[in-house]
Amino acid sequence: MPGIRVLKCPRCNRLFTKDRHPVCPECWRTEQENLDKVRRFLDENAGATAVQVADGTGVSEKDVIRFIKEGHLVAATGHAIEYPCDTCGKPISVGRFCPTCGEKLTKGLEGASKKIRRRADEDEDDPRWKKTGPGNS
Ligand SMILES: [Zn+2]
Ligand SMILES: [Zn+2]
Repeated sequence: MPGIRVLKCPRCNRLFTKDRHPVCPECWRTEQENLDKVRRFLDENAGATAVQVADGTGVSEKDVIRFIKEGHLVAATGHAIEYPCDTCGKPISVGRFCPTCGEKLTKGLEGASKKIRRRADEDEDDPRWKKTGPGNS
């Protein structure tokens, strides 16, 4: 049927018609309940880390961290919650990486793009590109 999009829920693999949420209604409800639990816990335990929140609410640490990364919790509580940096595991409260890894990553990307640019320059100077072909004289 045109206009109706059927998606596979990334959480439970069930098929559902896409509404406004990226997961099926059932997972969405669970997610809202978990988010509620986490928010209530943080109201009473300001400054708790992701691990403490997971312990206190029964919501998996992975989900807690996802809530933080998606920005649900900072907005809700006004408190920064710490979770491990994706690269070195140092506690952070914003983004995916700690400042050190973030900087390293930015530099790494800059280096990579410079390398690509240099290679493009070399290609332009390559005499093979300037040859007009044999027998043209
Ligand atoms: Zn689901
Ligand atoms: Zn790090």
